[in-house]
Amino acid sequence: MYEFEYHRPKKLADAVKLIKAKKEGKLMAGGMTLIPTMKQRLAAPSDVIDLSGLDNSGVKVSKTKVTIKAGTTHAEVASSSDLKKAVPALAALAGMIGDPHVRHRGTIGGSVANADPAADYPAALLALNAKVVTDTRTIEADKFFKGLFETALRTNEIIKQVEFEIPAKAAYSKFPNPASRYAMVGVFVADFGKKGVRVGVTGAKGSAYREKAMEKALTAEFSADAIAGVKIKADDMNEDIHASAEYRAHLVGVMAKRAIAAAK
Ligand SMILES: Cc1cc2nc3c(=O)[nH]c(=O)nc-3n(C[C@H](O)[C@H](O)[C@H](O)COP(=O)(O)OP(=O)(O)OC[C@H]3O[C@@H](n4cnc5c(N)ncnc54)[C@H](O)[C@@H]3O)c2cc1C
Repeated sequence: MYEFEYHRPKKLADAVKLIKAKKEGKLMAGGMTLIPTMKQRLAAPSDVIDLSGLDNSGVKVSKTKVTIKAGTTHAEVASSSDLKKAVPALAALAGMIGDPHVRHRGTIGGSVANADPAADYPAALLALNAKVVTDTRTIEADKFFKGLFETALRTNEIIKQVEFEIPAKAAYSKFPNPASRYAMVGVFVADFGKKGVRVGVTGAKGSAYREKAMEKALTAEFSADAIAGVKIKADDMNEDIHASAEYRAHLVGVMAKRAIAAAK
């Protein structure tokens, strides 16, 4: 690891000032991705601005809406009793991330900002039609995930929270990599009643995406049979030592059917 200056501001305004003032500054949430990257000398920030000193964690559930602050750990999301009642699918998703160490340090803000193609939250944010609120603006999930580890965030922009409306029912089904627990393929299905069904997929392509043919079929009829005729093309699917493109395409259908059956 190269040398760097460490800062732990207590206020968002101070974090904004710091990150803007430092030429090669980097924000840190739980450090679950950032620290290993720095240890391998793949990142060499001049300054690390640790956001864990801010008052930026917590899950708030109102009658119609869920707000999750960026610094909320996966363990906090998984154990939120309000969220378990409102959107049990998202609490369950958080409980499936990595291992206990990762769940107690990793945060929703860090996960979303990192945009790993196999991370779980991006599928949920797309299916839940979520909004990512930063220190300067609000970005719809549809416009947020741009590609492999690429988001719509501008340099030095800080995520404050993620928010979305509560769906009528939802579920997440993932085929985890047995070693890392990252998604080989994960499918999040959210049924918003008259507003339609949304399906977010992760692990399959370079970036999380919406499976629109499934959404159309499920909006007409919410059942596993309704998507039996939806063909998932393997053309642009990820291919690696863990799974071929064809296998991932097959898994998208299987995970979607499991999610539909489990939705509540
Ligand atoms: C062994 C292991 C297994 C894992 N398994 C899974 C899994 O199964 N599923 C899964 O989804 N993920 C998995 N992860 C990822 C993990 O859950 C974290 O979400 C991810 O590593 C980000 O960690 P972090 O929140 O500590 O962010 P950090 O590592 O601190 O930061 C990550 C990036 O986000 C930026 N950032 C952080 N906070 C903000 C903010 N508020 N605004 C703007 N930018 C910000 C940082 O600058 C950095 O670029 C795994 C990680 C490990 C190490």
